[in-house]
Amino acid sequence: MEKIQNFINGEFVPPYHQKYFNNINPSTGETYCEIPNSSSEDVEKAVEAAEKAFPYWSNLSDEERGNWLIKISDGIANRMDEFVQAESRDNGKLVKLAKRVDIPRAISNFRFYGTGIQHYASKSHHTVGVGINYTLRKPIGIVGCISPWNLPLYLFSWKIAPALATGNCVVAKPSEVTPYTAFLLGKVLKEINFPKGVLNIVHGYGKDAGSEIVRHPKITAISFTGGTETGKIISSIAAPMFKKLSLELGGKNPNIIFDDCDFDEMIKTTIHSSFSNQGEICLCGSRIFIQREIYEKFKNAFVEKTKNLKVSFPSDENANLGAIVSQPHYEKILSYIELAQQEGGTILAGGKTVTLEAPHDKGFYIEPTIIEGLSYDCRTNQEEIFGPVVTITPFDTEEEVLKMANSVKYGLSATIWTKDLQRAHRIANQVEAGIIWINSWLVRDLRTPFGGVKASGIGREGGWDALDFFTEPKNVFIPY
Ligand code: NAD
Repeated sequence: MEKIQNFINGEFVPPYHQKYFNNINPSTGETYCEIPNSSSEDVEKAVEAAEKAFPYWSNLSDEERGNWLIKISDGIANRMDEFVQAESRDNGKLVKLAKRVDIPRAISNFRFYGTGIQHYASKSHHTVGVGINYTLRKPIGIVGCISPWNLPLYLFSWKIAPALATGNCVVAKPSEVTPYTAFLLGKVLKEINFPKGVLNIVHGYGKDAGSEIVRHPKITAISFTGGTETGKIISSIAAPMFKKLSLELGGKNPNIIFDDCDFDEMIKTTIHSSFSNQGEICLCGSRIFIQREIYEKFKNAFVEKTKNLKVSFPSDENANLGAIVSQPHYEKILSYIELAQQEGGTILAGGKTVTLEAPHDKGFYIEPTIIEGLSYDCRTNQEEIFGPVVTITPFDTEEEVLKMANSVKYGLSATIWTKDLQRAHRIANQVEAGIIWINSWLVRDLRTPFGGVKASGIGREGGWDALDFFTEPKNVFIPY
C-alpha cells in the first residue's frame, strides 16, 4: 500500500514516529493509501526548515517570488489529469467537477497571487506642513495554513499562495480526509526545484499535527478554513499567544426567492446551489425561502428536477452527485435527515442512501434531499449539515424573510432572487452575510473580499485582503 509522506525542507520524509493511518476512497469504501500521523516532532522539523529559509525567501524581489508561484501553477497544470483523478478519489467528488473547478482554480490561485504580488503597493500619508508617513508591509515570518476536505487543493492553495507571495515561509496541513493532492503538490515543488524549506507540508490529524502547528510559538499567524467548532478551539489557543488569525468557518446560507424573479434561471441555479459537490461547499444555500405566491410552483419544479438528478460513482459522466466524503460525514448527514423528520419535517425528495453496483457498493451515497414543513428556528434549520439536504419555507413579507434568514448564528453567504432592483439592494444590505449573490450563485472574482460574519469567521481572504493579512504594516514618519 502506498504511504504518502510529509514534505519538509524540500524532501519527502516519513513521520517521526513512523505511524500512519488509512486513507479511504469514499466512492468504494476501500483503503487505498496511508497517511502520516505526524506529531510535534514533525512540526518542529518543518518550523526549523521554514526558519532557515526565511531570510532568503523574504529577501527575494516580489517579481522573483511571483515567478516561483507561476512556476508552481504551471507545474500543477502539467500534471492536470493526475491531480483531477486524485482529488476525485480522495473526496468522492465528480471527476468532471474536479476537472472544471477544483484543479483549474488551484492553478489560478498560484497564478493570481504570483502576478498580484507584483502589483501590490503600500501606502504613504502626507501630513501637510509636518512630514510624511510611509507604511512598509513586512512578511510575518512563519505562518501556519490549515485547510478542510471539501475543496482540498483549491482551498489549500488559496491560503498558501498569498502567504508565499508576501515573503512568508509556510507550514501547511491539508485535511487528513483528503491529503493526496497536497502530497502531489510536493512533487511539483521538487520538480521545479522550489527553494527548500519555504513551503513545508505536514500531514496528520487536526488534534495532533494541526494543534501542534497552532501551538508552535514560532508560527505567528494561522490561516484556517474549516468548521466553526474547530475555529473556536484554534482561537482559544492562538488568541492568548497574540497570533494573527484568519478564520473561514461554517455556514447555513439562505436563498431568498421573491415571486418576481426569473423563474427558470432561479430554478436552474438553485439546483446547483443546493447540490453541487453533494452540497459540500461552504457557499451552498441550504435554507430556501420562497415568497408564498410562487411557493407551490417552486416546490413542484424543484422537486421534479431534484428527483431527476443522478447519484453515481465519480467518473460517471452522467452523474450529478458523487460520493459523500467519508463514513462519519455520511452518518452525520443521515442523522440530520432523521432529526428533520422528528422535528416534523416532510421529505419531498430523497432522504435515503443509494447503493451502487460493485466496486462502488460500499461507497457513501445519499440522495439529494428536500424537506418542508419545518419552523425556521428548529435545529435542522439552524445547524450546518454540509450535505445534499435543503429545507424549503414560504414567506410573505421582506421583514419576515429577513428575520428568518438572519436567525442563525452563521453569516457566510446568501442569494437573493428578484427583478426589483431596489428590493435586491435593500435585502442585500440587510442580510447578515459576508458574500451576497443577486440573481446568481458562486460567480467568483478572486479580487473580492471572501469570508463571513458572526460564527462564519473572522477576516477576509482574496485579493489584497489576503496580502494584507499575511503582512505586518510598519509605519515610518519623517518630519520635514
Ligand atoms: P474541520 O474543522 O474538521 O477540519 C478542518 C481542518 O482543521 C483539517 O485540516 C483538520 O485536520 C484541522 N483541525 C481539526 N481540529 C484541529 C485542531 N484542534 N487544531 C488545528 N487543526 C485542526 O472541518 P472539515 O470537516 O474538514 O470541513 C468542513 C467545514 O469547513 C464546514 O464547517 C464548512 O462550512 C467549512 N468550510 C468553510 C469555508 C469558508 O470559506 N468559510 C470553506 C470550506 C469549508
